[in-house]
This record gives sequence, C-alpha cells and structure tokens, in this order.
Amino acid sequence: MGTNRRQFLKAGAAGSMLAGLSGCAGMAPSAAKARVAVVGGGYGGATAAKYIRMLDPGIEVVLIEPNEAFVSCPISNMVLGGFRTLADITMPYTGLAKHGVKVVRDSATAIDLEKKQVRLTRGDPVAFDRVIVSPGVDFIWEALPAMGSADAQARVLHAWKAGPQTAQLRRQLEAMPDGGVYVLTVPLAPYRCPPGPYERVCQVAAYFKAAKPRSKILLLDENADVTSKGPLFKKAWAELYPGMIEFRGNSKLLDVDVGRKTAKLEFGDVKGDVLNVLPPMKAGGIAAPYITANRRWCEVDWISFESKAAKGVHVLGDSLQIAPGMPKSATMANGHGKVCAGAVVSLLNGQTPNPSPTLINTCYSMVSDKLAIHVASVHKYDLNDRTFKTVPGSGGVSSAMNEAEGAFNMNWARNIWADTLS
Ligand SMILES: Cc1cc2nc3c(=O)[nH]c(=O)nc-3n(C[C@H](O)[C@H](O)[C@H](O)COP(=O)(O)OP(=O)(O)OC[C@H]3O[C@@H](n4cnc5c(N)ncnc54)[C@H](O)[C@@H]3O)c2cc1C
Repeated sequence: MGTNRRQFLKAGAAGSMLAGLSGCAGMAPSAAKARVAVVGGGYGGATAAKYIRMLDPGIEVVLIEPNEAFVSCPISNMVLGGFRTLADITMPYTGLAKHGVKVVRDSATAIDLEKKQVRLTRGDPVAFDRVIVSPGVDFIWEALPAMGSADAQARVLHAWKAGPQTAQLRRQLEAMPDGGVYVLTVPLAPYRCPPGPYERVCQVAAYFKAAKPRSKILLLDENADVTSKGPLFKKAWAELYPGMIEFRGNSKLLDVDVGRKTAKLEFGDVKGDVLNVLPPMKAGGIAAPYITANRRWCEVDWISFESKAAKGVHVLGDSLQIAPGMPKSATMANGHGKVCAGAVVSLLNGQTPNPSPTLINTCYSMVSDKLAIHVASVHKYDLNDRTFKTVPGSGGVSSAMNEAEGAFNMNWARNIWADTLS
C-alpha cells in the first residue's frame, strides 16, 4: 500500500484530476476530484467512507444511512441478558464528520448506473463516480408464509438487526413467567454471524439462571450441528447452565403459528412462551441487482470488491457471497471496508489496487455476563484461485473461557466502534 499511496498522492498533487462531478442536488458542487457514494452506515459502509477520506482527502464521500445513530449488533445479545443497555451499543455518526464524510440521513431506493446517481426516498439524487453498497442482510420472509405481515413480524421477533427489536425481545423475556420456554430458531448457514444464535442462548440462560431458574431454552437449528465454536459452546451450556439449554439439530422451520407462538417444523410443532425466529437471509434490498449467487448473495472481485454484475459498484459485508472460511461478521465487514477503500482510492487515482490483500477475523462470544470464548483466523487473497483463503495455522479457537477473554471482548468492541465511526 505504501508505494501505491505515495504514487497516487503524487499523481493528485500533479493535478491528474478525474472528470468533474455533476452537481449533487442538495449539496453545493465541490472541487473534489471524484465523489464516492456509500450506501449503508454499518460496519462495512462507515469504515469504507472514513478510510477513503483518510487515504485521499481529495475524494468527496457521501454516506447515505436512514438511522440517526449506529446501533451495534455485536454486544446486542448482552442487552437480552440484561447486562448492557441499548444506550451502551448506540453511537452517533458525528465522528465521521471530522474526516470530512458527508452523512445524508435517507434511504437509497435505487442505483441508476446510467446517470451515476443514487436515488433517495426523500432527498435529491446523489451523483457518484463510484458507489459502495453495504446494506447488511434482508430476511426471506417468503420462506415463512405466516410471517409475511407487519403485524406478525411485530409479534414474533428476530432482533437480528440491533435496535428497537432488541429492547422489545428483552421485554418479552422479562414478561415470561418462571418455568416458561424460550424458543430460538436458526436458519441453514450462511447467515449473519454464525456464532450469534449460540451466544444469544447463553445470554438468555444467564438471565434465566438468576431471575427464573425453572425456565427452559430450546434451540431449533436447521443445521445438523452448532455451526461455530461448537465444542466451546456445548461446554459452556453444560457447565454454566446444566439442563437448561436443549439443542435440536436438523430442525427446519417451515412456518410459524404467530398467535400460538409455535414453530412449525418438518417433524411436528414446538410451542414456546417466547418465540424468536431468525428467518433465512439474503443480501440487503438495495444490493438485489448485484445478486449473482444462489439468488441470495453478491459476488465481487476480491481485490477491489467491485461487483461481478456491475462496473463501478462495490459491495461489502454481509451481502457478499462469502469466500471459503469467511464468516459474515463485523470484523470481516470492517476489513472489507478498508480493502475496498484502498482499492477505490487507487482506481480513482489511476493506480492499480493492492494485488495481495489480507483480512483477519476475530469473533468473541459472551457465554455469561463476564466469560467469553473466541475464534480467530487470517484470510489471504489467492492469486491463482482469485479468492480469499484461510491461512493454515493462522488462527483457531480459544481454549480459555474466562474473565480475561470477556474483558478482551469489550476492548475488541470499543476498538472496532472507534475504527468504524470516529
Ligand atoms: C446478535 C448479533 C451479534 C453479533 N455479534 C458479532 C460479534 O460479536 N462480532 C462480529 O464480528 N460480528 C457480529 N455480528 C455480525 C455483524 O453485526 C455483521 O456481520 C455486520 O453488521 C455486517 O456489516 P454490514 O456493513 O454488512 O451490515 P450492517 O452493519 O448491518 O450495516 C448495514 C447498514 O445499511 C443500512 N441500509 C440498509 N439498506 C439501506 C438503504 N437502502 N439505504 C441506506 N442505508 C441502508 C442499514 O440501516 C445499516 O445501518 C453480530 C450480529 C448479530 C445479529
């Protein structure tokens, strides 16, 4: 990156300007050499926006995000456990302003590649030279016919996008009587955050253990076995919450009886007092035109994260068709944002992007209020197969399940929040 960076700064200083911007209505025309529009201010998009500005302040960056503040999915399971509040995981977007990122509070409705504009729900279109989309996941509600209505979705919660549903699910758990049953359904992988459901039942169990110890937790998983950190989670369930958590693999959810809080499975019905459904997932709606894999995910050139379906469009984060061994995680999305930012800056300066990017992943899970476990890995771009591959021996799972790990997790969270937003 060093040589490239020096080269493009030199090129910029020498006046090698790109084509001028068409006006972005609602914003004064600027003297910037190019404009990048970023759709989605989550872990992928906010990181990319910030790093483009850090690498080349001559490029204008407009970030489009409907939410007033960033609410982190990582640590949100602890809100369900009662060990953190929503306020603890909510951060303003104002930190991006000091990097010169212009944040537009709106939703993108379409990306017009001919006019090179992002169309918005309320405001005027935003013109761009390149566009980055990182909208996270959408739910495939069609897979669960009874869940199609807004009313059903307001009663049987996913809480898989941190925010109001997180607080609402906590209230449902609080209202559940001692001796009740909490049911969580998990879709077939890949889905957002492979260890997230197993961490969630630990957090709910920690709450039940203290507040309603006769209660039970049923984990209905479409996957045959726990998909991430399996032995560690099973050890935590057995040691910390003996007899409380029951795991049932190969439990494919076919539909839901919303009124009776019942999960309808291939092999019978399971009724809960609180039913929490994680529907199957796909790329976020604005990325739909760039879906190329299994009608669900977007494929990219891993050097630049440019879509395989459209030139000038870059896709990041959970919307991607993953490379082998690559989880849909915040650490990954944050890494995608940095690699993409470097590549976009190079391309806008007529340079070649770094041909050999590397990504890392660290994923902690809180198994109680204080104890954590983790998995880590390094992913290197493979020139022959043109994909990221896990570097053998580069990571692994932690053997510890202790308070130091729990403290490291909170440090990890504070670091990634700062890296993404301030
Ligand atoms: C319960 C839970 C726990 C998790 N724990 C961890 C963890 O411990 N560690 C970890 O690494 N990962 C964790 N994850 C996974 C992590 O949250 C995701 O992988 C990460 O958020 C993906 O980043 P993203 O940029 O793809 O999407 P997001 O971070 O979801 O960002 C998407 C953004 O796009 C915006 N958006 C969507 N559509 C539009 C549109 N049309 N116009 C404008 N904006 C739009 C949304 O409002 C949102 O802000 C967890 C996830 C969950 C659900």
